[in-house]
Amino acid sequence: MRRYGKHTDEDDVRVRPGRRGSRPRTSIRPKHEDAAEGFVLTVDRGRLTCLVDDRTITAMKARELGRKGVVVGDRVGIVGDLSGAKDTLARIVRVEERSSVLRRTADDDDPYERVVVANADQLAIVTALADPPPRPRLIDRCLVAAYDAGLEPLLVLTKSDLSPAGPLLETYEPLGVPYVVTSREELVDGGAADRVREQLNGRITAFVGHSGVGKTTLVNALVPDRQRATGVVNAVTGRGRHTTTSALALPLPGGDGWVIDTPGVRSFGLNHVDPSRVIHAFPDLVPGAEGCPRACSHDEPDCALDAWAAEGHADPDRLYSLRRLLATRDRREGD
Ligand code: ZN
Repeated sequence: MRRYGKHTDEDDVRVRPGRRGSRPRTSIRPKHEDAAEGFVLTVDRGRLTCLVDDRTITAMKARELGRKGVVVGDRVGIVGDLSGAKDTLARIVRVEERSSVLRRTADDDDPYERVVVANADQLAIVTALADPPPRPRLIDRCLVAAYDAGLEPLLVLTKSDLSPAGPLLETYEPLGVPYVVTSREELVDGGAADRVREQLNGRITAFVGHSGVGKTTLVNALVPDRQRATGVVNAVTGRGRHTTTSALALPLPGGDGWVIDTPGVRSFGLNHVDPSRVIHAFPDLVPGAEGCPRACSHDEPDCALDAWAAEGHADPDRLYSLRRLLATRDRREGD
């Protein structure tokens, strides 16, 4: 049965009685209450590929949504032709409330916030231990973006056969960031994907990492079916190549998780970040900040966190790490 084929059809009342039957018809009932539920897989020049049931649908944003953005990971309401047939175009009429929003500013001179991914719960930061060498400032910036957005970070360190992971892990030890260390061989033979996969089940994980770190190899190993998913994207662009401007959500085979591949991140602008949100990733420091002056940057003489750590309420290394992370907002990542 095509449950969503004709959303205005009276049959729909019998198919999904809960939607209409349980709610009184009043003038304030939401428009398009019969819209199908969709999940945005990728976006390309105004065309959105969405998963509806098990079909991939091409849709565009309805005019009534105005300037509201729709991004990968969004859960949306869709109306129109939902057959998924070639050259059909459905309309997204609603964007459900987001559980998280991963943002970045394009770079520090760009004041515009850009939402990268909605509804993710984890940010996998893929970094090579050598070739290219790790860029701790970029890792820090990714961590700040994750903490600001309420995502749990996961460090994925590659190429451990070229350089040991110890020194880098030492830097992040006070933060308690979970990590997976893998070698080049494991990237190739799938061992890396197996261990990363353990961290992904039941979660929506966005992957970031700049070129050469092995992110694409890893994502391809995690989602061997990517070819098919990419074919869907090709159908959207019609140009036989997958878009590099948008993130792409891929279902984790055999699990209920999602991998969201993001295009190579060269910078992670943090103009939008609010220190008071970042500190919530440090529950041991939050009560200490109650004694801070208003709008404390947590890196100023009157900051109450020094005394809080000195009194033994928190590990000074944690405070140092928080300050290092917050300082990355004001610094070029190449520094
Ligand atoms: Zn403070």
